[in-house]
Amino acid sequence: MRRKVKQLIFSFALRAGGLQARDSLARALSGVGCVFVMHRVVREKSESPARGLTITAAFLDQALGFLRDAGAEFISLSSLGQRLASGGPHARPAICLTFDDGYRDNLTLALPILRKHNAPATIFTPSGAPDRTMDVWFLRLEKAVMSSDELRPDLPGVPPVLASSTPSQKADAYRRLSQYVHQDIMRNKERIQGLLPRARISDEALAAEQFLTWSELRELADDPLVTIGGHTVSHPVLRYLDERSALHEMVAGRSRLAAELDRAIDLFSYPYGGRKEIGRREIRLAREAGFDLAVTTFYEQVRPRHGPYAFEIPRMTLGGLREDIAALEFDVLGCIGAGASKGALPNAVAAAPGRKLSA
Ligand SMILES: [Zn+2]
Repeated sequence: MRRKVKQLIFSFALRAGGLQARDSLARALSGVGCVFVMHRVVREKSESPARGLTITAAFLDQALGFLRDAGAEFISLSSLGQRLASGGPHARPAICLTFDDGYRDNLTLALPILRKHNAPATIFTPSGAPDRTMDVWFLRLEKAVMSSDELRPDLPGVPPVLASSTPSQKADAYRRLSQYVHQDIMRNKERIQGLLPRARISDEALAAEQFLTWSELRELADDPLVTIGGHTVSHPVLRYLDERSALHEMVAGRSRLAAELDRAIDLFSYPYGGRKEIGRREIRLAREAGFDLAVTTFYEQVRPRHGPYAFEIPRMTLGGLREDIAALEFDVLGCIGAGASKGALPNAVAAAPGRKLSA
């Protein structure tokens, strides 16, 4: 709601006062910086029907160039935590990059772009992804959609026939079916099994196609730009678990990463990190699990007031459904301020970005 109100204020100010009003608003709303969340990096959007969770390598490159030119400083998430704790003013707004779930493309496609821009990033992986033990219902669903021209789901509330021959039909079918699963993940993820039964391809094989191996994670962890963070063992909705199980997911995932990568794991990302899924209990447990800082998908910039709340650092999507510099500009306007205001003024309002998050 706050975001909608802010968009309206921006919209009104831009129309009424033009650049000057926009700059003063930007200063008034300026924060510490922005933390961006990404998942998969792809060459083309059509590579995956899960478009909301992808960013093309080209847009990542373009976005980092835009942010740098606008005066942002790329820093690590740990450095952001230190800045927040110190509470002092900072000349340049900070940008932190994060990738959730441990996809292999983070190494093959993202890392060269991170190096080009000298931009640090944190990769949050559930230990069950490199261990190949995670329930990968979302990869199963994607595979089912990618490998057929038509799906007949037989699920309540879902059309009985879903065309899936073109990239846009596949994206639509994937969106409808993943929405169905998210209505009740624990029950519905089993109900979509019929679309691509485990007998035809194992979870282990699906995970091996997409997720980093331990060896690849070590390669990433050894890069000075990369930090590896915890993301539980099995990527559950923590809120659905009893307290003991939720804490175990956090601690065991952290221990496994620390042992395999031979380093401390200090940062955590809540799986499904939205406001409906993350409450006081999950925040307390992340602290008890021994982490120093945790990121959510509460959609806003990082502001000085987040200083005492290192376990609920907000993040905004980079890429996703709207790969558009004007939409990015809208998201970061408050933290980058006047430096980002060259060109694209009307578009910044017209292109309010989509907000598909989590996973
Ligand atoms: Zn995740």
